[in-house]
Amino acid sequence: MIRLTIDQREVQVEDGATILTAATQAGIRIPTLCYHEKLLPFGACRLCVVEVEQMKGRLVPACSTPATAGMVVRTATEQIIKARKTVLELLLIHHPLDCPVCDKAGECQLQDLVYEYGITRNRFQDKKSAHPIDYVSPLVERNTNRCVLCGMCVRVCDEVVGASELSLVNRGIRTKVATDFDRPLNCEFCGECEDICPVGALTDRLFKFRARAWEVENITTVCSFCSTGCTLKLAIKNGRIVRAVGADDGAANQGSLCIKGRFGYGYVQSPERLSRPLVRKNGSFVEVEWEEALRTVAQGLNAIKAAHGPDAIAGLCSARVTNEEAYSFQKFMRRVIGTNQLDNSGGYSHRGFSRGWKDSFRERWAIPAVKDLKNCDVILLIRSNVSETHPVVGYRVTAAAKQQDAQLIVADPRRIKLARLARMHLAHRPGTEIYLLNGLAQVILQEGLENKDFIAAQTEGIQELTAALTAYTPAFVEHQTGVAAQELIQAARTFAAARSAAIIISAGMGCYGDDAALVHSAANLALITGHAGRAGSGVLVLGEKSNSHGVIEMGVLPDRLPGLRPVADAGARELFAKAWGAPLPERPGLAAEQILDGAQQGSVKALYCVGENPLHAYPDTQHMREALTRLQFLVVQDLFLSPTAQLAQVVLPAASFAEKDGTYINCEGRMQRVRRALQPWGDAQSDGDIICAVARAMGTDIGDGKPEHIQAELSALLPRYQCRQGEQIPPQGIQLEPGPAEPGAATMVRARLIPVEGTVPPAPTKEFPFVLMTGSSLFHCGGLSTYAPAIRLVAPDAQLDISPQDAQKLGINSGELVAVASSRGSITIKARVTAQQPPGSVFVPYHFAQPAVHALTGGWQPYAVVAITKQQ
Ligand code: SF4
Repeated sequence: MIRLTIDQREVQVEDGATILTAATQAGIRIPTLCYHEKLLPFGACRLCVVEVEQMKGRLVPACSTPATAGMVVRTATEQIIKARKTVLELLLIHHPLDCPVCDKAGECQLQDLVYEYGITRNRFQDKKSAHPIDYVSPLVERNTNRCVLCGMCVRVCDEVVGASELSLVNRGIRTKVATDFDRPLNCEFCGECEDICPVGALTDRLFKFRARAWEVENITTVCSFCSTGCTLKLAIKNGRIVRAVGADDGAANQGSLCIKGRFGYGYVQSPERLSRPLVRKNGSFVEVEWEEALRTVAQGLNAIKAAHGPDAIAGLCSARVTNEEAYSFQKFMRRVIGTNQLDNSGGYSHRGFSRGWKDSFRERWAIPAVKDLKNCDVILLIRSNVSETHPVVGYRVTAAAKQQDAQLIVADPRRIKLARLARMHLAHRPGTEIYLLNGLAQVILQEGLENKDFIAAQTEGIQELTAALTAYTPAFVEHQTGVAAQELIQAARTFAAARSAAIIISAGMGCYGDDAALVHSAANLALITGHAGRAGSGVLVLGEKSNSHGVIEMGVLPDRLPGLRPVADAGARELFAKAWGAPLPERPGLAAEQILDGAQQGSVKALYCVGENPLHAYPDTQHMREALTRLQFLVVQDLFLSPTAQLAQVVLPAASFAEKDGTYINCEGRMQRVRRALQPWGDAQSDGDIICAVARAMGTDIGDGKPEHIQAELSALLPRYQCRQGEQIPPQGIQLEPGPAEPGAATMVRARLIPVEGTVPPAPTKEFPFVLMTGSSLFHCGGLSTYAPAIRLVAPDAQLDISPQDAQKLGINSGELVAVASSRGSITIKARVTAQQPPGSVFVPYHFAQPAVHALTGGWQPYAVVAITKQQ
């Protein structure tokens, strides 16, 4: 620690802190325009100048001057104030005084500083800047005339987002922020540049002229797209969302958002939203009152239960409902229907990942926090194009590499964005991840690089694992994966030698194989090296959707009750039976895949889908269509008339995340508060209210669905959720996984080393020479984002990514139509030639209903071998 004096106050800070950090910690404000804690110091604006007694004769920038022991600093002398006023006058020479029409007014740091320092006239005069304003770029408007050259947009885009879209060009008074050749923006449209801009040079085009900053009511809630769980503020005016900004105190995002969180809220107020319940009559949907819709659902489900028993009815639930709604749903299925036939998303489910994580680490092991990734010195990404699937996690990884010099090891068949920053890119064959991870573990054990103390104290199963891994020699792994043995050995040594290392696996990047086994093999690697259970270490498993973690915690599973208590555990059943006033079904139910197989075969006769859309999102569209059309009764509760809803007998309009209260659990196991910002759209109701109303219509009261009542019920039943209610949840959320107990403590639970075998995906053939990978792309998350007008503006349709080599062989150019055929079906789609895609494989995101990429996949795998032909 260092002791210094600032404004006659003694201050103590850690080694390496700057004067600015020391002053901030002591509650002394020093003005800045170019400093942000997300970025490396830049020292451009000179507003933060201070006097240091030991550096007499000059003013020094506080943001980039290290604090040293015994330093005596003054932050507001007459000379300093004079210097700051001069800086402001210089900035105002070219800056237009268009505050009345500038969207930044009320939030502009320059405006505030000019007011604070009383700049009423300017000693310096020149022509105002007259750069052309960029009205062409979507979502972000660039008015370079207002720019103060703080460089924050350039740096956030480079250091954090990793897009490097903007640069400072020219010199002297001609310096400006520009893209290459001054073209319109062609980037990730995350809006981080406009968010960090201290003035109105970069502004949100969706917000333009819709409200003044002081007119809106800001409601803090959680993003509804991916499981990063970014905290955001929805700005509300006249009952509509006019803007979304990241909340600086958000635990995972610390103010950052991606395009989906910042600009994707438009789906909430889309005219395509369902506003009235629909009942199919004579083959067509008819709008009805809620009472009739609920009666129809109750009659349909009761009739099937009476005729075929409770197990003829199944339920599928989206991973975007709140925890309280997920709890109500499983309670409805178990208490009212009397079945365990329920599950959450099947296709790209977090279910396998979550099960794998729990089986390996069990309870009491910490999940690495997203914010701690920046402190890792090695990050291994496996099947994780996080820059696209979970962009804000991608920002943290980028910042770790660019700002802290962390070493990235990217294991991915594609040359994804983070591979460009990686020390090592292990470009393995699609679907061979487990071979790769086993190979890394084998090298570590073989070379004696494992953490023996950690293994002995905190794990079990090392002998079995060592025996099982003997076959995974570098030569064998090279043969299976295509990764050179020497690269594998180098990666293993790097990982083992790290001070702090994390492994990231993300759902939403579908590929061949068993998700639980993939997590076991990653967990084995983390555990044998001792990279687990500490801040910035461990395996971070990223669910695809906002509450992927929560629906599992709440027991939306065929074999687990809330709190992950096994259905087979009589004690657990008894606990819930007592609370619910009825016995629980004993037999574990069918998983999503088996439910749909059962529907096709006729054993499942009714399906209740809450926000779930199997026809679009699950592999094998043909199989899905057959299964869903064979059902006697299909109820869909959703925001939109999805492809699955179009086949239903009853469609119930559901409220969006912005129209209800509750909680989500993010990828870190953090429970965070979702807050109602708007009245529900039309006659829509929250999923929780609808489920409880259906239960009442069927003759059973399961409560009123109010989040606070469900939280109280959960708290009473499971200590894990005690004190988690409503207002008691702090802005940072509550971490559910407490981390490992001390070795030897009574509560210590050893992690399991679980040997797993690699799987070999079907190889390409002469007839189908390409491997098709599917999954999420940068601009979308599930199908929900396709209803957001702003996102559609940037990414209106799906494209097939193909390598330049393959494109040349087939005579395909970007934008041309190609036919893609597999043994299951065919689609026609636009091609995008990209060096990111390796030869021999193609990638198609699954977000769009048309063309339906899952017409090509089968066998419950988001994977196929396909043939490609250019369309004439
Ligand atoms: Fe954050 Fe994910 Fe929302 Fe993007 S989509 S803002 S990464 S939670």
